[in-house]
Amino acid sequence: MNQKKKKVVIVGGGITGLTSAFYLNRAINQYQLPIELTLIEANHRLGGKIQTEYKDGFVIEKGPDSFLERKSNAKQLVQDVGLEHDLVRNTAGKTHIVVKDQMHAMPLGAVMGIPTKFGPFLKTGLFSVQGKVRAACDYILPRSRVEGDQSIGSFIRRRLGDEVAENLVEPLLSGIYIGDIDQLSLLSTFPQFYKAEQEHGSLIRGLKKMSKTASKTTLTSKNQGVFLTLKNGLQSLVDAIETQLKDVTIQKGVSVKDLKKGKDGHYELNLNDDESLQADGVILALPHPMMAELMLDKNYLKDYKDMPATTVATVVTAFNEDAINLADGVGFVVSRHSDYTITACTWTHKKWPHTAPKGMALLRCYVGRIGEETVVDLSDTEIEEMVLEDLKKTLNITAKPKFSIVTRWMNAFPQYNVGHYQRMNEMHEALCKDMPGVYVTGSSCGGLGLPDCITQGKVAAEKIRAYFE
Ligand SMILES: Cc1cc2nc3c(=O)[nH]c(=O)nc-3n(C[C@H](O)[C@H](O)[C@H](O)COP(=O)(O)OP(=O)(O)OC[C@H]3O[C@@H](n4cnc5c(N)ncnc54)[C@H](O)[C@@H]3O)c2cc1C
Repeated sequence: MNQKKKKVVIVGGGITGLTSAFYLNRAINQYQLPIELTLIEANHRLGGKIQTEYKDGFVIEKGPDSFLERKSNAKQLVQDVGLEHDLVRNTAGKTHIVVKDQMHAMPLGAVMGIPTKFGPFLKTGLFSVQGKVRAACDYILPRSRVEGDQSIGSFIRRRLGDEVAENLVEPLLSGIYIGDIDQLSLLSTFPQFYKAEQEHGSLIRGLKKMSKTASKTTLTSKNQGVFLTLKNGLQSLVDAIETQLKDVTIQKGVSVKDLKKGKDGHYELNLNDDESLQADGVILALPHPMMAELMLDKNYLKDYKDMPATTVATVVTAFNEDAINLADGVGFVVSRHSDYTITACTWTHKKWPHTAPKGMALLRCYVGRIGEETVVDLSDTEIEEMVLEDLKKTLNITAKPKFSIVTRWMNAFPQYNVGHYQRMNEMHEALCKDMPGVYVTGSSCGGLGLPDCITQGKVAAEKIRAYFE
């Protein structure tokens, strides 16, 4: 009986691989599927980019800190592992934008940086009068005739002008993708912008209509935060999944060196401890720089291997709350035309009050952006000094922090440049023909936010099941 079981190996124990393991394991138990599951993770811990540190009563996220509620698969996973009572919603509040040396509040009604309310847009000091008039042209400009993909930058510049693109959209969006808006793919990142333009003839009009429909169909009130996290940190989701993978063989501290098609339709995975594994099906849930090394000789992986990825560092600093005097709001982002090392700063204790003990403040800053990544090579002390210098300039903080934690994220943000989805589709098709039963998934493929990774992990589990049926 045991011999008839199909062997499935999941490579990579980040949230994508863990989600695949969780749902596949659940299906195996529920439907008594003859599948044996192994998870291989190079590190000695699971979770990949999810890393929570607990220090002096603080809950510190070094990597992702939350997920969008609207993309429902993340919340669903939390519910499926039984952690729904630990869900915490963010405190909604103003985000500020630093342009040159000035801090401006983001105009009310801006949807991912696209202004949709007339009054706040007219009053903001973010744009010149000419910039505002140029943005209003969106109402009369014709729809784009671009066939296929284009960059977010060229799309926004054409509809709303350079000032809105550079002073509002770029700092917000590049904070998510850590990329260059003039290279990033519109269809792979914000397809809803294209849809709004095509359906309503104007981006502003389209987003206004879409956000009205969205607020009618969701239960969240207007001023409610749209992000969720877990009160004990996102690591608690990783730990809960691991506890529930009782029937799965988990090998930590072992990495897969290469993957080859063997005889009789089996696959062979060579490990760095000189062992090897045989598998009937494989899910590769690795970031692309690591994945490509496993299958070097595959031509159809060239575009995937060549995909750029950005390096940043996060710097968490803790202060006594009364030693710093923050404006109303939850943080700021910095435009490219500003002489700062920090690219974004979240006032974590305000956005997520559960993360800091009473009377303490926790700020989380990003440094490094595409084309300006060398700062990450500096020592922790040098990076901390530059961050403190910027905090002095922007927020007038002169106090010494209680502690700082610098975390480097090397090549951690895959760049979904123009044509990304098409290249991914071609890669998946070629892989399916060449190595049926092998699935490449995760943050380098179909979305890098946690909900997208979770969706991809779930889909990969379903594909493996379907492959054996
Ligand atoms: C600083 C930062 C902040 C972020 N903030 C947010 C946020 O707030 N909200 C949000 O939604 N998203 C956020 N993201 C994005 C999100 O965290 C990631 O896209 C997601 O966690 C990636 O998950 P993954 O499983 O695809 O990859 P990973 O988490 O990278 O996991 C891949 C795993 O594969 C393992 N591995 C690598 N090579 C091998 C090998 N050869 N053999 C075996 N194992 C191997 C690695 O050790 C790793 O554990 C953030 C990302 C970063 C870096």
